Amino acid sequence: MLNIEARIRKAAIEANRDPESVRLVAVSKTKPIELVRKAIEAGANIIGENYVQEARDKFTALGALSASWHFIGHLQSNKAKYAVRIFDLIHTVDSLNLAAELNRQAAKINKIQDILIQVNIAEEDSKSGVSPSGAPSLIEAIAPLAHVRIKGLMCIPPFFDAPQKAQPYFRALRLLRDELEQKNNPNVTLTELSMGMTGDFEVAIAEGATLVRIGTALFGRRE
Ligand SMILES: *Cc1c(COP(=O)(O)O)cnc(C)c1O
Repeated sequence: MLNIEARIRKAAIEANRDPESVRLVAVSKTKPIELVRKAIEAGANIIGENYVQEARDKFTALGALSASWHFIGHLQSNKAKYAVRIFDLIHTVDSLNLAAELNRQAAKINKIQDILIQVNIAEEDSKSGVSPSGAPSLIEAIAPLAHVRIKGLMCIPPFFDAPQKAQPYFRALRLLRDELEQKNNPNVTLTELSMGMTGDFEVAIAEGATLVRIGTALFGRRE
């Protein structure tokens, strides 16, 4: 935890960025509740989960502790009802259908649900996310929904052994964000860039990441 926080600070400073502008999402998918409790007690204030049912169990046990919960997995519309009750930020919205269902469920509980738009930045067949060219119209379509609010973009670039190879993709997400910001969609702010994981978060910070999603380096390898 301390070691990772120090690496985040160092990467931010080397990029001439305010270290406070980068937040750590502690990714605890598949890890037991007691390990997550320890992480929160050690100072992790954002917990990232990939599966709604697993997150519900953890949130039931730990929701009273002072941590914010983020959803970073693939969200099916039929789980939107539960997701809006748990998560402060959903990183993985990539269709109007899903946004509309989140909007409907958030309205029911009088919430405005913060979301990020997941972009399939390398246009890989195996990955979710809107294509970069489809992002402008998707954002324009979601913007009018009163109970969801777009806060930024998220991506998962291809996996490389050498983290520097991911840099063009992180840069592409930042440039896409800069371009989309010019459109000045009402109710849309694109301050957040969710990018970077255990293997490449320092490179992502150099390219402007504001949320780094780190699992393995904090909790050890997953089965
Ligand atoms: C699992 C996961 C992470 C964390 O990956 P690590 O390599 O373990 O740090 C980050 N983002 C997403 C979307 C994930 O599914």
